Amino acid sequence: MAPHILVLNSGSSSIKYTLFSGKAVQLDGQISGLGARPHISLRSHVSDTRIDRDLSEEEGRSHATALAALLPNLERDFGGRGVDAVGHRVVHGGVSFTAPVRVTGEVMDELRKLEPLAPLHQPHNLAGIEAAHAAFPNALQTACFDTAFHRNHPWVNDTFALPRPLYEEGVRRYGFHGLSYEYICSYLKQTRPDVYAGRTVVAHLGNGASMCAIRAGQSIGSTMGFTALDGLPMGTRCGQLDPGVVLYLLTTKGMTPQEVSDLLYKDSGLKGLSGISQDMRILTDSDAPEAAEAIDYFVFRIRRELGAMAAVLGGLDTLVFTGGIGENSTLVRRRVCADMEWLGLTVDEDRNQAGAENISADSSRARVMAIPTNEDEMIRQHTEDLLNADARPA
Ligand code: ADP
Repeated sequence: MAPHILVLNSGSSSIKYTLFSGKAVQLDGQISGLGARPHISLRSHVSDTRIDRDLSEEEGRSHATALAALLPNLERDFGGRGVDAVGHRVVHGGVSFTAPVRVTGEVMDELRKLEPLAPLHQPHNLAGIEAAHAAFPNALQTACFDTAFHRNHPWVNDTFALPRPLYEEGVRRYGFHGLSYEYICSYLKQTRPDVYAGRTVVAHLGNGASMCAIRAGQSIGSTMGFTALDGLPMGTRCGQLDPGVVLYLLTTKGMTPQEVSDLLYKDSGLKGLSGISQDMRILTDSDAPEAAEAIDYFVFRIRRELGAMAAVLGGLDTLVFTGGIGENSTLVRRRVCADMEWLGLTVDEDRNQAGAENISADSSRARVMAIPTNEDEMIRQHTEDLLNADARPA
């Protein structure tokens, strides 16, 4: 029988969930506003069930109470048949987790040690695992990491030019969005093995944004580093920054570490530059010069990184756009690729506007593609593999 796999993405105030039966999505939705104004939305793909309502304060108090509130809805649509496995998105796997794992007590201890490396995400990811363990005590729990895809990248892209002991204690370029890059690679391997085998740059452009240089499915370099702050500017995160700016904010301006953290994570990027919004759709529709400048900076940094990644790869065969902006913004795709013939890239504007998968012109030496990412499907696949491995006799 096809396994029922629940995929959970637990953030600070939200839990996004997708329930699969085999490869088919049965229902999805999210619980948002945890700890403040909790709300549940759920959409069944097999019945007319739609839920969109506020949760009580008690139901939305924690990840655990919120998952408990979700349970009756799952049971209704599945006639009480249980969930076989829960796959969790975990932002940080540190140095040692290079592949998805079955969660055990020891694994949780190891993952807790990584909380200081990703304080805004890791504790909530782990709270989600604990909540799911309480809600589904008989289900296999798996942890799928955003860092794992990059763990074999070359040392020069793993280190900073800091004293060695810092590297040894884990101050490294981990890179993130790995589940998205892995999904794009697996999609290319299945549909276009010739493209998969080549030199590819994937631009994952969503609220979080990064780029990855990939050779035959292997990560060679990523724009994200020690944390998910580095590299491209994002919805509210600053991207690459001279560390001297942080010293200036701390010393000359006397800001506290928390204030600096809030500034860099929550008030910078497209939001900080435009002073209007973090949302690319709103900026694209705006007439304000600040909105245009924020998009200019976003596009400029992507182009700059594209040149750097092509150099690292020794050339470029394919550029893939993905993420909410990469999949939908014809403007950003067109502007990133403008005057890039020197790199072999020419976009066909009709194909770009039509939302085709291959948007390059027939004359383009390198291929330009727009492919929807699917991190949940990647987590589902990993979780099913671990479920099957578990079922095999030792
Ligand atoms: P997350 O990183 O939170 O998963 P998404 O991948 O959903 O985010 O990307 C969100 C971003 O995608 C927002 O900036 C949003 O404005 C942008 N986006 C979504 N649809 C469009 C569109 N049609 N045109 C331009 N930008 C879009």
